[in-house]
Amino acid sequence: MSITLRPYQDAMLGDVRDAFRSGFKTPLLTAPTGSGKTVLFSFVASKAAGKGNKVLILVHRQELIRQTSATLTAFDVPHGIIASGVPETDEAVQVASVQTLVRRLDRMTWTPTLIVVDEAHHATRTTGHGRVLAHYPEARVLGVTATPERLDGQGLGALAGGFFDALVMGPTVAELVQLGHLSKPVVYAPPSAVDLSGIRTVAGDFNKGDLAAAMNRPAITGDAVQHYARHCNSAPAIGFCCSVAHAESVAEAFKAAGYQAASIDGTLDPDTRAQRIADLGSGALQVLTSCEIISEGTDIPIVAAAILLRPTQSLALYLQQVGRCLRPFPGKDRAVILDHVGNCHRHGLPDDDREWSLDSKPRRQRKKEDDETPTRQCEHCYEVHRPAPECPSCGFIYPVKSRRIEQVDGDLQEIAPDPARLAAKREQAKAATLDDLRKIAAARGYSPRWAEHVYRARQAKQTAWRGAR
Ligand SMILES: [Zn+2]
Repeated sequence: MSITLRPYQDAMLGDVRDAFRSGFKTPLLTAPTGSGKTVLFSFVASKAAGKGNKVLILVHRQELIRQTSATLTAFDVPHGIIASGVPETDEAVQVASVQTLVRRLDRMTWTPTLIVVDEAHHATRTTGHGRVLAHYPEARVLGVTATPERLDGQGLGALAGGFFDALVMGPTVAELVQLGHLSKPVVYAPPSAVDLSGIRTVAGDFNKGDLAAAMNRPAITGDAVQHYARHCNSAPAIGFCCSVAHAESVAEAFKAAGYQAASIDGTLDPDTRAQRIADLGSGALQVLTSCEIISEGTDIPIVAAAILLRPTQSLALYLQQVGRCLRPFPGKDRAVILDHVGNCHRHGLPDDDREWSLDSKPRRQRKKEDDETPTRQCEHCYEVHRPAPECPSCGFIYPVKSRRIEQVDGDLQEIAPDPARLAAKREQAKAATLDDLRKIAAARGYSPRWAEHVYRARQAKQTAWRGAR
């Protein structure tokens, strides 16, 4: 069997080739979860091997080895696997577990000429990925990731001390939604933010132990069950939790509410784990919860909802979790994200366009960018969406807020506009010419300069408005 690339994948491939042809040796390709990165780099590997290259595909999880191997097989690409317990072979394409390869580097005789790095945001000088890349300085490198950004703000680019010398941009989430290759994400969040005071930040993200204590509470879990009932129509959902115990208690709460639910974690035997994932895929399970296992690389297109119960400062983790429910599937007209932890306020909506860079960014700057993401929350159904006069989900029309606000006892309160002031404004609006404005100024005892000032401000506003069109 062979695989046909989609048009946008062809374009990505062309851009990668252009980067190599322009003399770059280590481009980094960025494209969202669900854009078919595995298909793309498997295609690259097969073409490169056909031209006599030795291609090393570097992945860091068991599941990704299986997925990549299956894709290469679909392309009829003979390949070996470098992983513990698997005998080594000498095919021109090798799929390697980073952990295993790092241990074997000193005795490897097979030398790659092209290295494909999956989840390439892990590739810095100090990681296993980095040690492999540093071991083969002559090889060309193609990095692939959905989020070319690290929690510590360290850039992945050569100028920032990293490995990559060019950034190749694939399609955005919004574009893939438009093309029908991803489902439209719809985000609902509770009206009040979860209390994260006292949660420590360790290595750039919230401390998981602190989080588990803060999040594993009946009120929050009950809220999750209620929102699932209201918005998800019993569609298969994944719940992202802070600890194994948290995942278990959330699954219990869903069961108590009459849903088919289960949790998975690393201590389960692989068969039970695989069975529960399969049950979610077949619809036998409605809700599967976990604290770690299902973030990266689990591909179950029928999953139509993500229940976010783990606050994170990692944009990569947030997008990976959300990405688990964005795959298109027959009959699935949208992907529902129930954000109980404020991640969409922290990182923006899943289909926001993002500006990536290979440079290092100070933390404060990243935070500022996050803060600038404009969102609005419906006070009726709690959907979080881009600013609009009405809620795209329930059609609630936002009341137009009056502009006069007075401070009373330290609280900001809305006060009805003063009728006399309104009448004066109306009279002023009716005055079409500078002469009319001068008459008003005279009648009210204003300075004649007031009329000129209002007139000029009006003209400037009109010009600006025309310019904007
Ligand atoms: Zn609404």
